[in-house]
Amino acid sequence: MDAEGHLGRLSEYPRGAAEAMSRVRNTETERVVWGMVGADDLNESDTRPRLRLMAVHAHPDDESSKGAATMAKYVAEGHEVMVVTCTGGEAGSVLNPAMDRPEVIENMAEIRREEMATAAKILGVSHRWLGFIDSGLPEGDPLPPVPEGSFAVVPLDEPVEKLVRIIREFRPHVLITYDENGGYPHPDHIRTHEVSMAAFDAAPEPDKFPDTGDAWQPLKLYYSHGFSRAKMLAFDEALTKLGIESPYKEWLQNWPADRPDVMERVTTQVECADYFDVRDEALKAHATQIDPTSRWFVVPRDVQRAAWPTEEYELVRSLVDSTLPEDDLFAGIREKVGT
Ligand SMILES: [Zn+2]
Repeated sequence: MDAEGHLGRLSEYPRGAAEAMSRVRNTETERVVWGMVGADDLNESDTRPRLRLMAVHAHPDDESSKGAATMAKYVAEGHEVMVVTCTGGEAGSVLNPAMDRPEVIENMAEIRREEMATAAKILGVSHRWLGFIDSGLPEGDPLPPVPEGSFAVVPLDEPVEKLVRIIREFRPHVLITYDENGGYPHPDHIRTHEVSMAAFDAAPEPDKFPDTGDAWQPLKLYYSHGFSRAKMLAFDEALTKLGIESPYKEWLQNWPADRPDVMERVTTQVECADYFDVRDEALKAHATQIDPTSRWFVVPRDVQRAAWPTEEYELVRSLVDSTLPEDDLFAGIREKVGT
C-alpha cells in the first residue's frame, strides 16, 4: 500500500535490533516456539519481522467498524492480518434504504459474503468464516430465545475447535476480540468473546483438540473498544467549533453520571488516522448494512484525524513484557526477535 513509506522507516530501527533480526534470519534451525518470531517470519524486502494479527468478529461488517484502521495500518507495514467472522450475518436486516430491495433481501446470505470479500480486499486482510448461523438481536419484553442451532446456543466446543484450528494454522502473535459484554449486548458478540477466550487458552495445549494442528501460543490478547464518551466529546467539540451540527449532543446529555467510560479500561491506543479512508471504504463495501448518509460519516475525516487519531484496545493477556500505556499491539513482541 505504501511501500516507499514502509521501507523509509527502516532506518529508524536501532542498529542492535537490525543485527538481532538478521541473526534470526540466518539461523536455519531457529523455529517458531510459543509465538516467537522465526526465520520465515521476516519480510523478504527488509529485515523486519513480519508479525501476524488475528481479529475475531461476530458478523460481516464488524471488522470494518471495530479496529479496521489499525488492521490496514499493520498490513501497510508489511504484517499479516486475518479476520475470522463467526457467523454469516444472515439475520441482519437491510439498514441502507438504497439496498432495501426484494432481490437483495432474498439473497442476503450470498450478498453479505460478497460484501465481506470486498471489505477484506480493501483492508488487505485474509478472511475466514467460522461457519455459524447469526443468532439475530432478540427484541421484545421478555426477550425471545435465539433461534435453535444459531451461534449463541451451539455447544461452546464446536466454535472453539474451529477457531483453534485456524489459530494453529495462521499462528497469530496477537489476538483481538470483544470484551465480556461483547462491546454491545448482542448474543453473537458475547459468544464471540467466550469462544475467543477459550480458543486462546486451548490453542497452546497439545492435548486440546489434537486433530487440529500443532499447538500455538499467541502472545497477547486484546479487547477492542469502540466509541468512548471521551471520543464522542472530542468529536462534539470539534464539530461545534466548526459550526457543524453535532449528532452526539443528545448521547452526551443522556450519558448516566455513574456509567464508566471504556477509556478507563484502555491500555493501548494505536495511531491509525492515515487509514481512516481505508476503514470508511471497507465499511461502505457492506452496502446492505451501512447507509452512506448515516452519522457514521458525519464527522469529516480531517476533523477525525485531528480530534481522535487512534483506535483503542485493552491488553488482557500477555506473555511478553511491554510498558503500559502502549501505542503498538506488537509492543514486546517485536523485541523478542533474536532473543
Ligand atoms: Zn455484529
